[in-house]
This record gives sequence, structure tokens and C-alpha cells, in this order.
Amino acid sequence: MENKRNTEQKRIILGALAAADHPTASELYESVRLKNPRISRATVFRVLGQFADDGVVRRLNLLGSDTRFDARTAPHAHCHCIRCGRVTDVFGGGFEEALAVSHIAGYKVFSSEIEFSGLCPDCLAAEGEGDNRYI
Ligand SMILES: [Zn+2]
Ligand SMILES: [Zn+2]
Repeated sequence: MENKRNTEQKRIILGALAAADHPTASELYESVRLKNPRISRATVFRVLGQFADDGVVRRLNLLGSDTRFDARTAPHAHCHCIRCGRVTDVFGGGFEEALAVSHIAGYKVFSSEIEFSGLCPDCLAAEGEGDNRYI
């Protein structure tokens, strides 16, 4: 029965990750716990680590942020707000090709990341700079 339980826990954790927005492991645990109080923090962390190692989810190490997790494994870039911590997916823009590079400068590539950091539209608006000029 242990396997069945593990499978169910994995399904719950993956579902919560898909519904969340690039959460840290702690944030994901908090959301899983609301509906599934019997899943432990250690289980959430362990399963997330396994998922990331197996390529089921992506581990994101954005500047100045704890490790986050992303249920979207298709190549995409990220915008990261240095003020509120928000992370926004950026698809297109020609980044797919760069992110798909498997060998470069003599290296075999295991992971790649394209990150833009700055202020999100909400934080810009709070500063009175918000408009759609840059979008
Ligand atoms: Zn922001
Ligand atoms: Zn993402």
C-alpha cells in the first residue's frame, strides 16, 4: 500500500505546483497542507526534489530568491520582480532556441536559465511609473 500512498501524494503535490505560481518548497507545503494536513513538510520537500531531478518540474534559482519550482517544463524565460518577488513566465521572444542549447563553448549543458529582473507592473504603478509603454 506504500506505493499507492506515494503515488497519491505525488499527484497532490504536482497538482498544487501546477496551480501555484513558481512557489518555493515552503510555500508549496503551506498550500498542500491546507487540503492535505497529513502530508508532511519532509515529504513535500523530498518529492519536489525527486521531481526536479527527474525533469518532471524545473528548479529555479533566481537572483536573490530561495529556490522555486516550476510545473512548466517547456522552455521559457522568467521576469522576476526584485521588490515583491513576483515571477512571470515569458514564452516566445526567441528564447526557446537559446534555452535548448545542449553544448556550448565546449561544455555539455545540464541546465540553463534566462532571467530578467526589475520591477513588475504593479510595483511600477505604485511608484507612479506604471503604464503599458514597455509591454
Ligand atoms: Zn513587484
Ligand atoms: Zn516559469
